[in-house]
Amino acid sequence: MFHKTSTKLAGLYLAIMMVIGLFFSFNVYQISTQEFRRGFPGRDIILQRLPMGQFDPETRDRFIAEQESRLMQAKERVIGRLVMTNLLILIGGGILCYFLARRTLKPIEESHNALERFTADASHELRTPITAMQSEIEVALMDPKLTLGKAKQQLQSNLEELAKLTALSEGLLKLAQLKDFKLSDKQVQIDSIINEAITRIKPLAKSKNIVINSKVEDGLTVTGDKPSLIEALTIILDNAVKYSPAKTEITITAHKNQKNVDIVVEDNGIGIKATELTHIFDRFYRADAARSKQGADGYGVGLAIAKTITELHHGKITVVSKPGKGSTFTIHLAS
Ligand code: ADP
Repeated sequence: MFHKTSTKLAGLYLAIMMVIGLFFSFNVYQISTQEFRRGFPGRDIILQRLPMGQFDPETRDRFIAEQESRLMQAKERVIGRLVMTNLLILIGGGILCYFLARRTLKPIEESHNALERFTADASHELRTPITAMQSEIEVALMDPKLTLGKAKQQLQSNLEELAKLTALSEGLLKLAQLKDFKLSDKQVQIDSIINEAITRIKPLAKSKNIVINSKVEDGLTVTGDKPSLIEALTIILDNAVKYSPAKTEITITAHKNQKNVDIVVEDNGIGIKATELTHIFDRFYRADAARSKQGADGYGVGLAIAKTITELHHGKITVVSKPGKGSTFTIHLAS
């Protein structure tokens, strides 16, 4: 589709170029013939200007014929040059226009492809729980001995699938909303971000007997949007709890270095393989270990959201991890 559009756009560019080229050629031709006329005013004027009786008619006619033929040759040379120039514009310009059209359309093509990939991935992720729910309900309805207890169990399972769907659609909505994000110039206290994120994750950590320690330097601030920064940190903290065995520890530290304020979240969890580290910030990516981990439900959109929020604050997230040992995620924010 984009190849065809590039060709069409190149055709349009080339047509504009050719119209301009032909317009100039026409003018050049007009000006040159006027100039030639000045050099050779034409048979009648020559006859008027030549002193009477000084040349015999044969010499005079030969002189005029020679002048006329020179004028013709000069005109032909100009036409030849102009045709060559226009041909060169047509061929060279055609190639150049196609190249320019490809360049113009490249970013649009890339974002179109990304959108297509995203739509396909999102539909796939949405379909999985819906299909699971549909088949469970169908099986239950076909069961003639369906008891109230079994039906309740069924509804409970459907509720869980619905909770996953809600989480996924909220994640997708958040990603879409971040497109219109405008960075505020408010100062945000780092300790308040950390405390709020810990408060949100505490119930989950408590259910796994995980202790969250924090060591935060006093008076750290960054410029930005507090709710979004809390959300980014909550995602990382939530992952640290989800991908850690029970009765382990998570440590959050925050300190200032030369240019940044760094918030570091260190866990003693399952870790991430080096080959998977480069993908974990991609939308819908889940490492194998995470997929097989019981109780670590997710859709792989959390880190994509955290990364987008951090980048919108002109910061970045880095990660160091060792499978089986744990992971350290650092949010670097400009102070
Ligand atoms: P999910 O909903 O699957 O947690 P995320 O985008 O938050 O999605 O994370 C993407 C993947 O990165 C996870 O599926 C998991 O494989 C890996 N991951 C993220 N944080 C951790 C962590 N602290 N320990 C181990 N793996 C992690």
